[in-house]
Amino acid sequence: MFKTLSNRLLDVLYKVKSINYLTDGNIKDTLDEVRKILLEADVALPVVCSFIDQVKKEAIGKKLQKGLTPGQGLIKIVYHVLIKIMGGEYNHNLNLGNKLPAPILMVGLQGSGKTTSIIKLAKFLQQKQNKKVLVVSTDTFRPAGMEQLKSLALSASIDFFPSSLDFSPSKIAELAVNMASINFYEVLLVDTPGCIHIDQDNMSDIIKVHSVICPIETLFVVDAMIGQDSANVANLFNKSLPLTGIILTKLDGDSRGGAAFSMHQITGKPIKFVGVGESIHELELFSPVRLVKRILDMGDMLSLIEDIENKTNRIETERLINKLKKGDSFNFFDFMSQLKQMRSMGGISKIINKLPGFSHISNKIQENIDDKLLIRMESIINSMTIQERLYPKIIKGSRKQRIALGAGVYIQDVTKLLKQFDDMKKIMEKINDNSMLKMMELLRNNKLFSMFKKH
Ligand code: GDP
Ligand code: MG
Repeated sequence: MFKTLSNRLLDVLYKVKSINYLTDGNIKDTLDEVRKILLEADVALPVVCSFIDQVKKEAIGKKLQKGLTPGQGLIKIVYHVLIKIMGGEYNHNLNLGNKLPAPILMVGLQGSGKTTSIIKLAKFLQQKQNKKVLVVSTDTFRPAGMEQLKSLALSASIDFFPSSLDFSPSKIAELAVNMASINFYEVLLVDTPGCIHIDQDNMSDIIKVHSVICPIETLFVVDAMIGQDSANVANLFNKSLPLTGIILTKLDGDSRGGAAFSMHQITGKPIKFVGVGESIHELELFSPVRLVKRILDMGDMLSLIEDIENKTNRIETERLINKLKKGDSFNFFDFMSQLKQMRSMGGISKIINKLPGFSHISNKIQENIDDKLLIRMESIINSMTIQERLYPKIIKGSRKQRIALGAGVYIQDVTKLLKQFDDMKKIMEKINDNSMLKMMELLRNNKLFSMFKKH
């Protein structure tokens, strides 16, 4: 996320770190460079100016905290000011009010990620807050959009209110509210037609839906790839519909940072969630602190720990720990379950990105890591018999050949996997409590990288 911005900022700030005193001159040079970097990352000009002013105000003429070099002091100031311009230290949680159901309206341009975000948010509310959630589409312009919500809801076990093209968007919304309140749903998430342009015609249906459901939250969903302009589009929407918050999507892509940095200052609306991938779990509560820590490479252990808790299978991990404690040997069933857990966390490169001290150096490491390898490793294991998975030692000559043939790989790949299995086994047998966390530590210390290198 914001890799270029992050690397360049760190380069500049690290330079300051290595000198022992700050003068007006070198603060000026550094800040000039920081200004350039932010502008090139597409951060809106007024936001950049206000950022630089605040940093100057904090830095010049103030006594720096004891124990910090002036450079470290400056990094600390940059850290606090960046957080401030992105909305402050506190996360802006969803407001569900006390009406049942709590109606939440999602609006935004076509393709911004509304439908996907509704499903992600529904899952988030269901899993993290134990809410009974219903979703409905009022997108009568794009029947495919309705179908999309329906099929996503179905595969994620989220209740879906069937919409009919015979009704207007506002009628559908009204029916959904009735059905939700009769059936004690706690939250109703309403998808709307996406506009291509913002004009009165396009907006009128959405405004009608808004007045029928009286949403407690009207969330503006916007694609981070459109940069600082996203904040202007939000402002335009806000003129017709009072927005209560923003969901910034596609932060996993190569957006440069403009949207995330500019949104709060330009619109005055809080970013509540960010979309960081296409799959259902890839929605995070927006935390300026976490983002700035990531950008300034202070690590992101918090979200990594959340990932581990949410996406890995705790029961499976505990089973494995108990098994190893009892002295049972680690086998290919266990290896497979570890690979699956890593994959469900987004693969090795995503995990690395969140480790402290990594983003700065991880480009090179990442070039050497191939997440597809996880999938290939799984397919080799799938070609093994139960016997072979339980007793990997028996895998020799002709068995190797058969497995390679079954998985569509070379014999050398099977040999390599067996070696990786042995390495993992050695590591796993040393770990006897919270295995996933320790595994992260090992990843960080570079011990596991060699296992996932490309050929
Ligand atoms: P809508 O027209 O606003 O409903 O947009 P959709 O929900 O249909 O999303 C448009 C495309 O963006 C789809 O291909 C989604 O998979 C993709 N998308 C949505 N959110 C994200 C995200 O956070 N990251 C990535 N990489 N893709 C996303
Ligand atoms: Mg849609």
